[in-house]
Amino acid sequence: MSQRFHISECPVCTASEFRLLMKAEDHLVSHELFHILECTQCAFRFTQGAPVEEEIGPYYDDDAYVEHSDSQSGLIFKLYHKARSIMLSFKFRMIKNVNNGNRLLDVGSASGYFLEYMQGKGYEVDGVEISDKARELCKSRTGIEAHLPVSLINQDLKGKYDIISLWHVLEHVYTMDDYFEAFSHYLAEEGVLLIAMPNHRCLDETYYGKHWCAYDVPRHLWHFEPKTFKLFAAKRGFKVSSIKRLPLDPFYNAMVSASYKKGFKFLPWTIYIGTLSFINGLFIKKKSSSLVYILKKTI
Ligand SMILES: [Zn+2]
Repeated sequence: MSQRFHISECPVCTASEFRLLMKAEDHLVSHELFHILECTQCAFRFTQGAPVEEEIGPYYDDDAYVEHSDSQSGLIFKLYHKARSIMLSFKFRMIKNVNNGNRLLDVGSASGYFLEYMQGKGYEVDGVEISDKARELCKSRTGIEAHLPVSLINQDLKGKYDIISLWHVLEHVYTMDDYFEAFSHYLAEEGVLLIAMPNHRCLDETYYGKHWCAYDVPRHLWHFEPKTFKLFAAKRGFKVSSIKRLPLDPFYNAMVSASYKKGFKFLPWTIYIGTLSFINGLFIKKKSSSLVYILKKTI
């Protein structure tokens, strides 16, 4: 039996009593079941019993994991890559609206599309990426050499950043406290930290439940929503100054979740669910499928 990552204290409120919320399947790689627990004090959800960090590698070893893949085959991938180009300009405009600085650190920079795009817009960019394959791809494609997470955590990078971004990354990180200490260290006085994550308080989660693709066990360890994330950030010296939506995620979530639930990927019904969730998020922002938290340092 491999070693498991066991959480005995809630990272949000430090309570130690949890209830089993659901058993979710790793649909992407192992097809193993993992427990998602909920803290009885603050309702924070997390994955219990994921492989330890040293053993999680094989759970990412699948080209279907589009976040690290440049594959262009298949309808879902084509849509994902189209969505990526729309999202690059969306992210740029979002950042421009919240900070005027031009030093950017992207944590979890994957194959570097965002770094490359932002460099093209005049930003001085640095990336941090754990995957050797993604770092090599980034270097050969863009010439940008991303750092290893250990350099970030050991605070070996030079200077300060006006913007630190994590696009769907924090939910994968084993040592969140180390990362937040590093963010505190690297962020300029008026800098902003942008953290994008799935939000389970959304309509597509209500509909798909344990098949909701953004639970993505065991790769996603933490399942935040606005209430728990604000508490979590406050204890680490950060204040959520605003929250933004990622508009395309409900459609992507509905398509992928439908394929997990019933084995089909692209039917009018999934578009209908995606659209309902999208509209719901338009009216009630904190019910959007994915949220971007804009944080500032408080200490
Ligand atoms: Zn808690």
